[in-house]
Amino acid sequence: MSNAASNVANNAADNAADNTITGDALIGGVAVKGAGGSFQATDPALRAAIEPAFHMVSAAQIGQACRLAEAAFDPFRALSNEARAAFLETVAAQILALGDALIVRAMAESGLPRARLEGERGRTVGQLKLFADLLREGSWADARIDSALPERAPVPRPDLRLRMIGLGPVAVFAASNFPLAFSVAGGDTASAFAAGCPVVLKAHSAHPGTSELVGRAIVKAVAQCGLPAGVFALLTGTGNGIGQGLVAHPAIKAVGFTGSRSGGTALMAVAAARPVPIPVYAEMSSINPFFLMPAALASRGAQIAAGFAASLTMGVGQFCTNPGLVLAIDGPGLDAFADAAAAALAKVDAGTMLTAGIAAAYQSGVHKLGAHETVRQVMAGVSADGKGAPALFRTSAAAFLSQHALQDEIFGPAALIVACDGIEQLRAIAESLEGQLTATIQMDEADTEQVRALLPVLERKVGRILANGFPTGVEVSTAMVHGGPFPATSDGRSSSVGTAAIQRFLRPVCYQNLAQTLLPPVLQDSAAGQAWRRRDGALTRE
Ligand code: NAP
Repeated sequence: MSNAASNVANNAADNAADNTITGDALIGGVAVKGAGGSFQATDPALRAAIEPAFHMVSAAQIGQACRLAEAAFDPFRALSNEARAAFLETVAAQILALGDALIVRAMAESGLPRARLEGERGRTVGQLKLFADLLREGSWADARIDSALPERAPVPRPDLRLRMIGLGPVAVFAASNFPLAFSVAGGDTASAFAAGCPVVLKAHSAHPGTSELVGRAIVKAVAQCGLPAGVFALLTGTGNGIGQGLVAHPAIKAVGFTGSRSGGTALMAVAAARPVPIPVYAEMSSINPFFLMPAALASRGAQIAAGFAASLTMGVGQFCTNPGLVLAIDGPGLDAFADAAAAALAKVDAGTMLTAGIAAAYQSGVHKLGAHETVRQVMAGVSADGKGAPALFRTSAAAFLSQHALQDEIFGPAALIVACDGIEQLRAIAESLEGQLTATIQMDEADTEQVRALLPVLERKVGRILANGFPTGVEVSTAMVHGGPFPATSDGRSSSVGTAAIQRFLRPVCYQNLAQTLLPPVLQDSAAGQAWRRRDGALTRE
């Protein structure tokens, strides 16, 4: 990194010392005013604009951020595991150093309560540290060595060595529903950084002040670690032009996105239409089927109903793993479950939703579902302006199978119960579903064989199958999968939560017969004993 670049980054760090939100974008380690029109955040509880004004970045500013990211890629990916781990930990420390100012601003911009946001900050910091641990452990590089076999007949085998490298600069779209853990320094950013990829971040227009604070924390960490300023940029603005311009930029090599199906598919189309197409990892829409197996329903339907209602209404239902579809066999057990769930939901007041747009989309989705001839309303609270009240509906399996629109995601605390005439119809419903993030099975031991028959269908449909729990509350860990076939995500081979998320931003490179001095350290003979490697097929740390 040049001295000039270092000074620039340090200036940005100093400017942020008092946690002032200036309404600026962060490009090249400095705060810059977007060259376009202005917009403001809105407090969704008060329905009032919050100071200051932010400005839309221009195409030229997007281009500048992308070119700087491109220039930062080689030095950033050349860092040792230890240096990149230290950077992630510095980002975490800088976020914590923002103190209460971060929580207060996030509360104002999202309507989410303090306890939720403090928990989310803990998760954000925790996942940065998890990726730091992953880097130090080292197996992420998937190093492989196939020793040369010069005597092999009829053709000798060359010396072959493989490792993973980062894809290049990643465009990350912050999610509205996790202003910290899936926003500026959230899972997409942490996993891209871990992979050695610079990040150009499109801030969500619902929480620009929160984004600026966290963005400044990252800029400080970049400077403190002596990294090129292009490792991170924060772009401000609303509307489709900024995101589409970012994805179309030739320096961008992959995309991480969490949001609507329409937004995700629009960005997939932009990425596919580029002269050089790039992968898009979009997490979009999921109704998370919740299976009530017969024995479990009979033995503890009311108890399950209470937990279900709590999961459905947590965070005003604004979780991608919200259980929006209940599947069970018709009968008194299901009636009792529906009554108990309705009673529990009736006790939950309408809650402030993240944005006026999300609240309006929720209310319209509930209205549309209730208007279906074949759908009966079990209960529905009153959703005032900007708020979402719980709602529960019921329909028959025959109706569900014949109307695809009943599978549409309603983002908020609404669920549809589908009553089946038997276990075969329950399986047929599972078979008819689009790709999902999760499937939950409430089961007793007596349900085991029916669940065994259902599992192959669910494995094809979802990313995570869980038994006797509730799908909200996603653990950030090594074995977690937060993904699933389309439209849950744009690429069902990946997870956006947990250490597996790094794989989205890596690709393999093979080195054939390269001299030891030219090989990356992890593949040199001298690294034996210091790194996990697959040598001649066997995984070893020698
Ligand atoms: P969104 O509208 O998809 O926006 C997400 C981000 O993508 C924002 O930065 C947005 O820009 C940008 N964007 C949206 N459409 C675009 C397009 N066609 N081209 C380029 N950029 C685009 O999501 P949202 O604002 O978070 O919420 C809207 C709806 O998304 C919700 O009602 C819900 O249905 C769904 N949602 C689902 C999940 C989930 O996990 N399943 C999570 C959040 C939201 P702006 O900043 O200008 O808006």
